[in-house]
Amino acid sequence: MADVANKYPENVPGKYYVDEQCIDCDLCRETAPANFKRNDDGGHSYV
Ligand code: SF4
Repeated sequence: MADVANKYPENVPGKYYVDEQCIDCDLCRETAPANFKRNDDGGHSYV
């Protein structure tokens, strides 16, 4: 389960976020491309 203590700083403010457990599987970006982007340097998504 995601932990707010481990959220990535690129996330927008608010209750939704991606944390360090992201495995860069691309599902969220494919499903909701308006809400998720990829940090190409870090290899993970953020909201
Ligand atoms: S890419 Fe998106 S769906 Fe996949 S693990 Fe990361 S946050 Fe979850």
